Parts: sequence; structure tokens; C-alpha cells
Amino acid sequence: RIYRASIARNNGGEADNTALVVEIVKLRARQAKLLGYANYAAYSLEDESARSPEAVNKMLGQLGPAALLKAKSEAADIQGLIDAEAKAAGVKPFTLQPWDWAYYAQKARKARYSFDEAQVKPYFELDRVIKDGVFYAAQVLYGLSFKERADLPVYHPDVKVYEVFNADGSQLGLLYRDDFERPNKDGGAWMESFVDQSGLFGLKPVVTNNLNIPKPPAGQPALLTLDEVVTLYHEFGHALHGLFSDVKYPALAGLSVPADFAEYPSQINEMFVREPEILAHFARHYQTGEPMPKALQDKVLAAQTYGEGFGTSEYVAAAMIDQAWHQLSEKETPPVSRVMAFEEAALTKNGMSFNPIPPRYHTPYFAHAFSGGYQAAYYAYIWSEVLARDTGNWFHRHGGLTRANGDFFRAKVLSRGRTLEPGVMFEQFYGGAPEIGPLLDWRGLTLPKTPAGR
Ligand SMILES: [Zn+2]
Repeated sequence: RIYRASIARNNGGEADNTALVVEIVKLRARQAKLLGYANYAAYSLEDESARSPEAVNKMLGQLGPAALLKAKSEAADIQGLIDAEAKAAGVKPFTLQPWDWAYYAQKARKARYSFDEAQVKPYFELDRVIKDGVFYAAQVLYGLSFKERADLPVYHPDVKVYEVFNADGSQLGLLYRDDFERPNKDGGAWMESFVDQSGLFGLKPVVTNNLNIPKPPAGQPALLTLDEVVTLYHEFGHALHGLFSDVKYPALAGLSVPADFAEYPSQINEMFVREPEILAHFARHYQTGEPMPKALQDKVLAAQTYGEGFGTSEYVAAAMIDQAWHQLSEKETPPVSRVMAFEEAALTKNGMSFNPIPPRYHTPYFAHAFSGGYQAAYYAYIWSEVLARDTGNWFHRHGGLTRANGDFFRAKVLSRGRTLEPGVMFEQFYGGAPEIGPLLDWRGLTLPKTPAGR
């Protein structure tokens, strides 16, 4: 009942949004037409790296079916667990429903990859992850070095400042690290630019990385979960994008890129966590200095892709709904009474209608698409990731994490801000258009070729 009430919210009743959705869609379509575009998506995507609705449709159309296929195998796995439990209890098994998914997926995941977070954390000590992990990877790839500057002013005693140097010893910029949580600090993790790089004004970049790691008692180490380690790498990727910026005009510096490109530098940096040579360098026990045992490493990494079928499917379905609404002309927009039917038809047409996995947001409460600033752009998260996974694949095809590869990536992408169309920038680096294959591999969405015998 809670589930049904949840997915029906803002659809009928006092807080009904369906009429507003139709009005918003019509007004956006009219705006696009006045500006000479076929629909709102065509108008809005021209400034993104995807460039056209056709390109977005193509990518979602390739990703959706692969994700759903994987999700169906996850559903079979979960149904197996439900059946086994029913048999043990001597009752009739029930069919998996959307409201069962989270609970049983958690159980199935535990059964498959049993490890304890407490086993893993001693290998991820904050200082070591920063110095022997993210800083080390930046040294291997880009020749950077970092010097702590305790003499520079900070806004809180927990904040650390590093001066960042190029391989030739020249100064690149400053990095502020604010890693611990505090009662008066925003939640989550983020990167921000204090000073944008600019050749015109002779400004070097000053950037900050913020995390919310619980602060350990004095004398105790801060031990991280794998998710926190990945987040640390992610935010540092944004920091590098700001630090490497080498443009004339501040308006085009570093992170002045569209939504579907902004997460590209952070997501590629995330990938280095899983690189064996990098992982081996920082994942060491904080007391003994021993590397993380291989068996534990394998389990931890394998568990990362568990549930990606579900996660990717519900996301892609929502991205498709967003595109479907914003690729309409004013005339094609359905009446208020047909809002949910339009949504269902869009999912069915794209082969994404599967009862146990609803889209992450239904139209009446899809704030990203109708009031959150992500209209026709909800796909952007995954587009950035496609670029990042392709780039990871490029590194591997060109000999791995070498200085030459790092410098090439820095010259072609990370240093250029928005001085070039982002789509063109990517192609000049990659040597072609983005491909979906590496992302499918990364998320474990490529099914084994032989039928799994279960
Ligand atoms: Zn990010």
C-alpha cells in the first residue's frame, strides 16, 4: 500500500501535477519553436556534448535493453530466494513485486558476497588513501607533486592546503581539502572553485574538495568505506579538471562545461580505484601495512556491480520519459487525462516496461525534468559516464596508466575548459564517437555468453 501510494503521488488529488506537466511541456515546445527548433530537446541538446535528440535516443536505446536483460536475471535470482524461503517455511511462494525488490535484493547480495565492512575499512585509512592513492595516481599519470602548506590561511583548523606542482616544478595551483563532517557543514561531497584559472588575468586555480568523513577521536585513524574512497577519487577528478584548466577567458575555464560532460573527469578518476597497481599502492592495513588480501579485494570489487541491472534500468526508464516529453511539439502534447498513458506508451515503445522495476520517477513527481533544471537532460549523468568508461578503455588499449597517456588526456580534455565543443573535444581525444560497450562492461551489464546454469 505504501508503494502504491508512493508511485501515485501528485497524480490526482489535491497536489495533482498532471495539468502542470502538460502546460510546462507545451510552453517549452512553443519556446523551442519560436527559436527555430523542432522541439525542446533539440533546442536544449544543441549546447550539450550529445548535440541532438537522435544521439541521446540511440545511446538510451542501446543501454536500456542490456540493463533490462541483466535486471531480469537479477529478478530470477531474487525469485529463487523467495521460492527457497517459502519452501523452507512450507508455504506457497509469491511472485516478486516491485515493493519486494529492495529487501530481497539486499538478502541475495549478502548471500552471494558475504563480507563485512569492518573487514575492509582498516585497509582504507584516509591519509594513506589521499597520499598513496589519489595523489599517487596523479603523479603516475600527470607527474604532479603536492606539498602541504600549513602557513596558508584556512577557514577551519581541519582544512588542509596543498600547493600543486607540475613535473617540471612549475606551480599549478592550490588544493584545499576539507574532509571531515561538522555540525554546520553541508552534507555530501563536492568540489568547488575558489579562483577560476584565467590567462587573461594571470590567475592560477584555487580549488577545494569537500567530504563528510566522521572525524575520529584524537590519535585514531579515519578509516573509510569503499564508497567513501570512490567518492574521494571522484571529487579529486573534478579538482584536477579545475587545476589543469589552461584557457584565456575565465568564463570558459575548467568546469564551465555542459551537464553531460561535467561528470566525465570525475568518473574517469573514480576508475583508478579499481586499477590493480593503484589499489595495491594505497589499500594497506593501517596497523600492519599489509596489502589487502586478494580474496577480499575480489569480493569487494565484484559486489560493486551487483544490482546494476535494476539501478541502470530504473534510471534509463526515467531518462526515456524525460526525452519523450521534451521531444514533443506543442501539437503532439497529449491531454491531461492521457499523461500516464503517454508515459506507459513511451516505455513500451522503448522495450522498458517491466512490472518489478518502475522508472525511478513517474511523470507527476519527476522534479528533475519539470522543475529541477534537468529538463531533456536527465540522461546527462550516464552520458558523462559513457565518455569516462570509453576513456578508461582507451587507457587500457594504449598501454595503461602511463605519463604519456595522462599528458595526452590532460592536453586534449582536462586543460581545455570549454574552449571547444565538448563533443568535438572528446572525439579529438578518443579518435571517434562515444561507444556504449565499455560502460556495459564496467557496470557488469554484458551477460555471460554461455547460458547460466541455475
Ligand atoms: Zn561529480
